[in-house]
Formats: sequence, structure tokens, C-alpha cells
Amino acid sequence: MKREDYISWDEYFMGVAKLAAMRSKDPNTQVGTCIVSNDNKILSMGYNGFPTGCDDNLFPWERDGEDELSTKYPFVTHSELNAILNYRGGSLEGAKLYVSLFPCNECAKAIIQAGIRTVVYDSDKYSASAATRASKKMFDAAGVEYYPYKRSGKNIHIEI
Ligand SMILES: [Zn+2]
Repeated sequence: MKREDYISWDEYFMGVAKLAAMRSKDPNTQVGTCIVSNDNKILSMGYNGFPTGCDDNLFPWERDGEDELSTKYPFVTHSELNAILNYRGGSLEGAKLYVSLFPCNECAKAIIQAGIRTVVYDSDKYSASAATRASKKMFDAAGVEYYPYKRSGKNIHIEI
């Protein structure tokens, strides 16, 4: 008899996205993305961080500062964009993206332009923000399907 308590595809991919988020050095927000093909193969992953060569010890992780350059905002690359840029296999046309937080408008543009057709998100805590509203407006216009991940309530402990 086969095991019956194996994880579903959705749990697997959102789990991978959340595991990727644990790589983030951001003290306030950790977001992870997992991009998959239509036949359930993982194509790419990403988490929010600074671009290659931008030292986490030298660049600021602050949310507030005297000027914009002493905050993280001009420098940080979001998990969705990182996952798109990390992909080395060619086209992401028709792919599906799992993300732990609803994409901002900048990532939404990249998602649309990369040809990703489906977005599965967990948290939508900034749904009232202009960025999230702009994302939804662009997804609707471009025909990108998006729907919330349905939490199963499973708690997975991984000893590493
Ligand atoms: Zn973003």
C-alpha cells in the first residue's frame, strides 16, 4: 500500500517557496517564490535580497532613513523577480508562479512580460496598497490568473 499522507503539489510548491524565503537576510520581510512548469517540474526559485556583489553587510536593510539611499528599497530585488532572473532554461511561457506574498506592481510587470500565466499566492496583507491594486489591474488586463493558496493546516517540521 502506498503512503496516503504525502504532500500535494500545491503544498510542495508553496512549501518550497516558503523554504526559499528562509534564505532572505531581510530582518522584516522574507518572501519566497517557486516557478513551476505545467507538468509540475520546478523551474526556478527566488527570495528577496540584494543583487549579486551587493554585500549584505554593507547595504542597508533599514525601512526608514535620512534619505532613500540609507533604506533597503532602492537595492532589494524581490523574490519573484529573482526567480524569473535566476532561470537559465529559456522561456517561462505558460509557467505557474507560487509566492508567499502577493506580487508588487514591479514584479507583476516582470511576471506578465516573462509569459507566466498563473500566480498562486499565500498572504495578501497589502491588498489595500496601490502597488497590489496596480498588480491586480495589470494581471486582469493581461489575462494572468491569480488565486489564493488554500492552506491545508499541515505543519511540516524538517530537521536539517
Ligand atoms: Zn515585487
